[in-house]
Amino acid sequence: MAEYTMTIDGKGVKGSKTVGVVNPATGKVFAQVPDCTRAELDQAMEAAKRAFGSWSRDLSARRNLLNECAAALQSPPEGLARMLTQEQGKPLAKASQEIMGTALWCQYTASLDIPNEVIQDNAAGKVEIRRKPVGVVAAITPWNYPIMLAMWKIAPALLAGNTVVLKPSPFTPITSLMLGEVLRGILPPGVLNVVSGGDELGAWMTSHPVPRKISFTGSVETGKKVAASAAPDLKRFTLELGGNDAAIVLADVDLSAVAPKIFWGAFENSGQICSAIKRVYVPEAMYPSMLEKLGELAKNVKVGDGLEAGTELGPINNKPQFERVTELVEDAKKHGAKIVTGGSRMGKDGYFFQPTIVGGISDGVRLVDEEQFGPALPIIPYKDVDDAVRRANATTYGLSGSVWSSNPDRGAEVAAQLECGSAWVNQHLAIAPNLPFGGAKWSGIGVENGTWGLLGFTEIQVVNVARN
Ligand code: NAD
Repeated sequence: MAEYTMTIDGKGVKGSKTVGVVNPATGKVFAQVPDCTRAELDQAMEAAKRAFGSWSRDLSARRNLLNECAAALQSPPEGLARMLTQEQGKPLAKASQEIMGTALWCQYTASLDIPNEVIQDNAAGKVEIRRKPVGVVAAITPWNYPIMLAMWKIAPALLAGNTVVLKPSPFTPITSLMLGEVLRGILPPGVLNVVSGGDELGAWMTSHPVPRKISFTGSVETGKKVAASAAPDLKRFTLELGGNDAAIVLADVDLSAVAPKIFWGAFENSGQICSAIKRVYVPEAMYPSMLEKLGELAKNVKVGDGLEAGTELGPINNKPQFERVTELVEDAKKHGAKIVTGGSRMGKDGYFFQPTIVGGISDGVRLVDEEQFGPALPIIPYKDVDDAVRRANATTYGLSGSVWSSNPDRGAEVAAQLECGSAWVNQHLAIAPNLPFGGAKWSGIGVENGTWGLLGFTEIQVVNVARN
């Protein structure tokens, strides 16, 4: 079996214990990774703290090294994409795209400026607003886009002059460990440390005295624990949490053109995207035809092991999530929902679930009200647009949402009424490295990406010089 090591102080560390990683296409353990102990975490934190001083001093050196990191990922190590498929489940082509996206995200972030603003510069004095790094950043990531979401944190944190200790999800640790291996050949020791272990390791990190900032992506439930754990030490935090995105279809659309876009906005990565479409509101008159079109799409999609050629959707990533999606679909059935397509598990091995379109369902049923984070989509009829907007907003979530109309201006008017961080028109999942991404309400605090995300890894300092 191949050996995967943590990155601590620039070195590969096997760790004193290991833990298994399951391939969701088989349901079987296929690799072992280090299970970081408290003492090993302390070493990683201390290394990050030691590295901070010199790393924080020279922006152009940091930029150059991040460009080198991006270049290294543009020719990724043999087997990285395959490993992403094996630990996450997504089709191989999608895994390669995620790795390319990771490289591009790193490259773009490396090009950003950290603005120092001069507010006053005259005979009386000079006032400047500077941005200083926070210190050591604890970065904690989920299992749906493990390597990409790690880079959303690593690149801006490092460019701003911080050092990082990264912990991937216990379901998908290997590609992050491999990322650490690649980057440890480029970055000075201690600048980026990667540790692997269970949820408990995350809790040790957020309560550890060394980090000054926590950058967390995951569920609302864990996000609240992270915030509580940060409070006694007043650590800064950014929380990128779950969503229950609504897509509102207006009556003027060409349904044949829109249905495939809505389908892929919901089912990409087997629905395991924080900002995937998780419920669709459709005018009553269009409802039967929308169910039919989405049902056809779901029926014809090729689900399978991501390593098999032609696979369009892989399995659900892990057993608890597979059980949760199953439970929500069963609960919908009990509440009288009509399963248009799918509705059950596929095969005996692994965590495959049929792409599922659910009609005859409305708000108040768990599949509509909660985040399913899987391949099951409820379609809900509405009478008037104001009512659809009210229902879209009647949730504690506020990550993103979309409005679909043949009149983009009308679409934008309705989209502006959505209570969420990203409001899209005639598209969904329009996420880019130069745009801030984050959630309203319980979907998060702070944003990632672009200058806005970068500044989240800094503290303001006012330098106020009197000249007389
Ligand atoms: P999760 O909250 O279970 O776990 C996320 C990470 O937190 C993992 O690394 C986990 O080990 C760690 N963790 C668990 N308990 C912890 C604790 N007490 N303290 C510190 N860390 C702890 O989430 P998940 O199941 O891995 O991911 C799915 C969720 O992530 C969904 O809700 C999804 O919407 C959300 N998500 C959000 C975004 C975004 O950008 N807003 C992106 C992707 C996923």
